[in-house]
Amino acid sequence: MPEARNQKCPECGGTVRPGRTTLTFERLGIELAVEAVPARICQDCAEEFVDGPVAVQVSDLADRLAEDAAKDMRRQLRVRSLALSLA
Ligand SMILES: [Zn+2]
Repeated sequence: MPEARNQKCPECGGTVRPGRTTLTFERLGIELAVEAVPARICQDCAEEFVDGPVAVQVSDLADRLAEDAAKDMRRQLRVRSLALSLA
């Protein structure tokens, strides 16, 4: 039964329950944390398991966040360099 496999921790054989976790990424030199990611968490060793499709979605989100953040930074740098040239 695939159900039973999902409820046991592959690391320690402990009980795995649905929960939330925070995943951290580094993209374009920017550190990002995506909070409240659905995960299964082992009650015994605290190992966290994120399903493949969820991991892909979160990774895509991290890509978009990093691109936006990088754009903002470039914008701020431009503003700063403009301010410097006016000074
Ligand atoms: Zn475990």
